[in-house]
Amino acid sequence: MKIFIKAPAKINLSLDVLHKRQDGFHEVKMIMTTIDLSDRIELTDLPSNRIQLVSQHRFVPNDHRNLAYRAAALLQETYNVNRGVKIALQKRIPVAAGLAGGSSDAAAVLRGLNRLWDLRLSLPELAKLGAQIGSDVSFCVHGGTALATGRGEVITPLPPPPSCWVVLAKPTVGVSTADVYGQFNVNQTIHPDVEGMVDALYRQDYHQICALLGNALEPITMKLHPEVAQIKEQMHRFGADAVLMSGSGPTVFALVHHESRMQRIYNGLRGFCDQVYTVRMDGEPNMS
Ligand code: ATP
Repeated sequence: MKIFIKAPAKINLSLDVLHKRQDGFHEVKMIMTTIDLSDRIELTDLPSNRIQLVSQHRFVPNDHRNLAYRAAALLQETYNVNRGVKIALQKRIPVAAGLAGGSSDAAAVLRGLNRLWDLRLSLPELAKLGAQIGSDVSFCVHGGTALATGRGEVITPLPPPPSCWVVLAKPTVGVSTADVYGQFNVNQTIHPDVEGMVDALYRQDYHQICALLGNALEPITMKLHPEVAQIKEQMHRFGADAVLMSGSGPTVFALVHHESRMQRIYNGLRGFCDQVYTVRMDGEPNMS
């Protein structure tokens, strides 16, 4: 048997880092939402307990280092599954970009194998398991729009933002999330108004959502990669309603309501940056 599953990217509407915990993780408060830019995954049941992963992307490993592979191995081990799977991964989400591509692949494999192997686990059970793979995996299992607290694994669903265009631009640099968190200094942090963003989502107030976009990691990545600030400036110049770096970067996204302005930002950025995408905000949760 074979199934196809989509693994959508996320952006952060708000990302706050509170402090470093005893266990080495950072305590965070983030609002994430899925966008209509997805990796595609084909899962084929194998009779032996072998896990095989195929991906054509040169920066994505094909073995146990791949988060999608780890998701399958974790399910096998935890539930004593005596079956295997071939995972064919078609990457569309830019890699090491701050868009949770790897985490979303892992979450999609958890959801897909739950069906393929008939494990009958609930989404909260899959999300809890996903947290063992990475802090963003729990959110990606649920998808949609949510507040993520703890180290990112405590998920509270929120209403999706009002529909709009999202223009994404990724400079050629790749960013290591660990490096960015490594430079986090609590005394130099500007905290975004996460509660205000929650309220704006409940009120479906697009202007307030734009006004409150904020990311405590942005100044750190910007210092390491000045391209981030340059892209932000260009997006504003071409008429974005609001602009922010996603996750630990380096991808920058612009929110824009009018299609003509979206087009202007997209065209303007393409001469400046080699990876530019235009997508719709998605924000709807996974049902299974
Ligand atoms: P986040 O926003 O959660 O910090 P990211 O978008 O910055 O994630 P990823 O695209 O997930 O970063 O990739 C980070 C690293 O993880 C890459 O360098 C890559 O080698 C490795 N990796 C492992 N599995 C995957 C996968 N399925 N897709 C992409 N990268 C993967």
